[in-house]
Amino acid sequence: MSDTFKPRTKMVHGGTRRSQYNEVSEAIFLTQGFVYETADDAQARFIQAGDDEFIYARYGNPTVAMFEDRIAALEDAEDAFATASGMAAVNGALMSLVSAGDHVVASRALFGSCLYILEEIMPRMGVNVTFVDGNNMDAWRTAVTPDTKIVFFETISNPTLEVIDIAAVSEIAHANDALVIIDNVFATPVFSNAIALGADLVVYSATKHIDGQGRTLGGVILGRKDMIRGPIETYMKHTGGSMSPFTAWVMLKGLETIELRVRAQASTAQFLAEKLSGHENLSRVIYPNHPSHEKYDLVQQQMGSGGTVFAIEIKGGQEASFTFLNRLQIAVISNNLGDAKSIATHPATTTHQRLPDDQKAALGITDGLIRFSVGLEDQEDLLADILAALG
Ligand SMILES: *Cc1c(COP(=O)(O)O)cnc(C)c1O
Repeated sequence: MSDTFKPRTKMVHGGTRRSQYNEVSEAIFLTQGFVYETADDAQARFIQAGDDEFIYARYGNPTVAMFEDRIAALEDAEDAFATASGMAAVNGALMSLVSAGDHVVASRALFGSCLYILEEIMPRMGVNVTFVDGNNMDAWRTAVTPDTKIVFFETISNPTLEVIDIAAVSEIAHANDALVIIDNVFATPVFSNAIALGADLVVYSATKHIDGQGRTLGGVILGRKDMIRGPIETYMKHTGGSMSPFTAWVMLKGLETIELRVRAQASTAQFLAEKLSGHENLSRVIYPNHPSHEKYDLVQQQMGSGGTVFAIEIKGGQEASFTFLNRLQIAVISNNLGDAKSIATHPATTTHQRLPDDQKAALGITDGLIRFSVGLEDQEDLLADILAALG
C-alpha cells in the first residue's frame, strides 16, 4: 500500500493481510494462539517474533494487526496498538509511561472516566496531577515544569466543545521535555492532524466514529513505533486490555467507510448549527466551525471542520430540555456519539450527573444544555424534526 495514496484509498486497502485462500474481505482470525512447526520454531519466536509472527492474541493477532495498520495510515502515525475500549487506550497510554513521583498536567474538562484515572487512580499511585483550564495558555505555562512527564488533554471538550490548541500546548510541553498525549475523539481520525501538530500519542475511543454504527467497544493508541512497540505494547499485552479479533474486524469494516460517514455527518452538523443559530427558543448554539465559536480561527487551521457534534442550550432549563428530547422523532435519546443514528443527550442528568454543581457550572453544563451527535440521516429531515421538537 503506497504511502502516497489518499486517505479514502488507504482506508479500503491499508493493512490487508490475505491468508492462503486470497479472500477479498478481511478474514476474522478468531484464535487465541498459533501453532509452531517445531519446538525450535516456538523457541525462536519467543526470543524474537518477526513481522507477522504471532504468539498469543493478547500480544497480537492478524485481524487486529490489519486494523492497527489501517488506522495508523489514516492518522499518519508510525504505529498503533488496538485496545478493548477507549478507556483501555487512555489508561494504557498514561499508565505505561508514569512512575510514582512523576508529575502530570491535564486539562480539567475531561470525559468522566479519564478524570477518574487522573484524579483518583494516579494520585493513589504517587503520581502528582495538576489540572488546568485547557483554554488558558498561561495556565499551561505555569503548570508545566521541567519535572512534568506528561501533558494530557481532550482536543475538543465534551459536551461544551471547547477547542484546545494542540500546537501551542505541545510547544510548552516539549520545551519542558514532557510528552503530549491527547484524547482526540471529538476531532475524529478524519479531521485530525494531531501528530503533525505535536502530539506524541493520540488516543481514540474506536467505539465512536471508527465503528460508527454502535456495535462494539474498542480503542487505539497511535504514535511513534519505539513508543507503541516499546512501553505501550509491553504494558497492554501484560495487563489484558488488548482488542479482540472480532472487534478488530468490525473496526476494519468501519474504517472502509469512515471518510464518507464522518464528512457527511460533519456537513450535516454544520448545516444544522447554522440553521439553528439565533432560534428564539435557544440561548446558545455551540459548534466549533461556526463564526460565533471563540476558537473559530483555530478550528480552521487545526481541523478544517467542526466535527460531527454540536450543542444547544434550550431556554427553560431541564423541563424544556426534557420536553424537547421526548418530542424528537428521529434522534434517539442515548449517550454514544459518532453513530450513524443521531443521538441527543442531556449531559447534566446523565453523562455529567455526578459532577458537583460548581464544576458543572464551571464547565458550562447547564440544565438547558443538549449535546447532539449528528448521524447519517437526511439533513432536512433532521432539521424539521429538531424545529418541531423546539416548538
Ligand atoms: C467515549 C470516550 C472515551 C471512552 O471510550 P470507551 O470506548 O467508552 O471506553 C474516552 N474519551 C472520550 C472523549 C470519549 O468520548
